[in-house]
Amino acid sequence: MKNRNNILEVKFPAISRNEATARAVCAAFMISLDPTVSELADMKCAVSEAVTNCIVHAYSDKTGTVFMKLESSEDRQVKIEVRDKGCGIEDVEFAMEPLFTTNTDGERSGMGFTVMQTFCDKVKVRSTPGRGTKVTLMKKLSGT
Ligand code: ATP
Ligand code: MG
Repeated sequence: MKNRNNILEVKFPAISRNEATARAVCAAFMISLDPTVSELADMKCAVSEAVTNCIVHAYSDKTGTVFMKLESSEDRQVKIEVRDKGCGIEDVEFAMEPLFTTNTDGERSGMGFTVMQTFCDKVKVRSTPGRGTKVTLMKKLSGT
């Protein structure tokens, strides 16, 4: 049986073209676990929402860094942390409510966290105002 334990850490500037980079990193990490097409698409979509939030909310117009840590375990559990050192979130529970957004120009729909929760088994968010945010996305892959 293949050893499924693996870990990968990357960091990149919080600029919009790195949303695609993050999706590609997610795919590159997961592919050796033989995920189904939908498992792979789900995780890429969730990662994309988390990374977009770092880019548009955490650092807004400032420059900053996005940290990604990807882990897989023997029992096919995939865990992806997306972390920033940006503005943080005052009330995480409230921010995770569907349709809640602090965006005022009408470009955001407030559905990012809902999408993450829909496509993952579990989503954990830890945030400190002024210090940053860590979103942990977890999904157990099917198969052996
Ligand atoms: P959408 O994702 O649909 O484009 P959105 O980004 O506003 O809209 P969510 O992704 O659900 O919606 O996030 C809700 C709110 O939580 C955001 O409007 C923002 O205020 C806050 N938020 C989310 N992630 C971060 C982050 N990394 N740093 C600071 N604030 C964040
Ligand atoms: Mg969002």
